[in-house]
Amino acid sequence: MLDAPRPARIATPWWWEAAPPAPLPELPLPGRVDVAVLGAGYAGLSAALVLARAGRRVAVFDAMNPGEGASSRNGGITSGNIRPGFATISRRFGEPTALAIEAEGKTAREFLRDLITSEGLDCDYRLTGIFKGALGFDQYDSMARSTEVLAKRLGVEAYAVPYHEQQGYIGTDYYRGGTVRMDVGGLHPAKFHAELLRITLAAGAEIHARRPVTGITRDGTGFRVATSAGVVAAGQVLVCTNGYTDAAVPFLRRRLIPVRSRMIATEELPPEVMARLMPRGMMMGENRQMGFYYRPSPDGRRILLGGRDGSRKGDPAEPTQRLRDGLAEIFPELARVHLTHSWFGHVAMNRDMLPRLFERDGVLYATGFCGSGVVWAPWLGSRAAHRLLGNASEGATAFADRPPAAVPFYRGKPWFLPVLLAGFTLQDRIAWWRARR
Ligand SMILES: Cc1cc2nc3c(=O)[nH]c(=O)nc-3n(C[C@H](O)[C@H](O)[C@H](O)COP(=O)(O)OP(=O)(O)OC[C@H]3O[C@@H](n4cnc5c(N)ncnc54)[C@H](O)[C@@H]3O)c2cc1C
Repeated sequence: MLDAPRPARIATPWWWEAAPPAPLPELPLPGRVDVAVLGAGYAGLSAALVLARAGRRVAVFDAMNPGEGASSRNGGITSGNIRPGFATISRRFGEPTALAIEAEGKTAREFLRDLITSEGLDCDYRLTGIFKGALGFDQYDSMARSTEVLAKRLGVEAYAVPYHEQQGYIGTDYYRGGTVRMDVGGLHPAKFHAELLRITLAAGAEIHARRPVTGITRDGTGFRVATSAGVVAAGQVLVCTNGYTDAAVPFLRRRLIPVRSRMIATEELPPEVMARLMPRGMMMGENRQMGFYYRPSPDGRRILLGGRDGSRKGDPAEPTQRLRDGLAEIFPELARVHLTHSWFGHVAMNRDMLPRLFERDGVLYATGFCGSGVVWAPWLGSRAAHRLLGNASEGATAFADRPPAAVPFYRGKPWFLPVLLAGFTLQDRIAWWRARR
């Protein structure tokens, strides 16, 4: 680690070393299906699994190989995070709604754990807990208060970690204490996707890889779904395209902003370094707009760190450097570490930063996971399937029935992103200055 740090050589996810997206064989186009699903990420597959097991003929169409979207590129942190945070949601919608959303997060995390264990999905899932670092002592106080409410009202094992105990959780002085919740863990996202694909295929769903849907039109009580290989008649349609939503679904495209999230993987680190920096093998996060999420790899040998990537072009040098700088700020001893991988994918943000399950003109949408879809996408995908099956109680969710608001003057090209992200960076700098002055 003493020579000049090498730039990351590999632009595909580190996860793909163990589980690259499967190039499924081309299938003949069906004439008619009960349900057509757009997108074969976690949401689309979870829905198709429920539908196929209920005896429906279901065809899932993906523009790429299944999993090539965000579902095999992410950090694998099973956070079920809601971006506005408990205190903000309480202020905006009242504490009962904030508690209902948190309670659903708890249920959704348990759903994911049960799915993995009951189906025997081999995906390195571990309930490690997550440590969230506070930038200053005021932020620590407010995070500690929210954590106390969660622990008391929802029975989540969650607690505050004061500054002087921080080193027992993370080998840094960077934060001013933090909080821990033990119902969050980590998995190998690409293995999880591959396993979900395996059981969905075994349940009888047809997965049409590299076959984009180009348009959906009403046809009597059903739909005509146009694909790159021809038209399919479908009784019902479910859209699970999230951060990869394109012109085939213009209603959704005006409501979701695709934002790049990038990750880096360090070279393998000596066991004593890993034990010092991440003594409990927990997932890690922080409460900054442009903040970082990070974790040990499932084998505990390297650190994977991610954050927003504001670049619009393919060149990874600048956004990779931002992540490297972030890593070095948190762990100064890693300033000269070599990186092996740097990759990105798209997450879907919306105006109020809440996930959604809604219907519009007969089409159902499960989407808007705002960078936390490892928990929310399987959960809302399966809720969507129950809705299509007419199972009202199993389809119930606090996120139902209200499409996200359209973004003014926006048709799918997020021209405003550089300004927005620059504004977030400035907000973070001010918050940092206030926290540390
Ligand atoms: C780098 C990164 C790190 C992340 N880290 C985390 C994390 O640690 N924890 C967490 O909870 N979440 C994380 N996320 C977010 C998480 O990965 C996503 O929320 C989740 O995978 C979304 O799943 P999905 O099924 O909705 O969409 P995706 O997996 O993105 O799948 C959408 C699919 O739709 C397909 N599609 C689009 N248009 C069409 C069309 N017209 N026809 C057919 N197919 C189409 C695409 O090809 C794509 O495969 C991260 C995301 C990224 C990119």
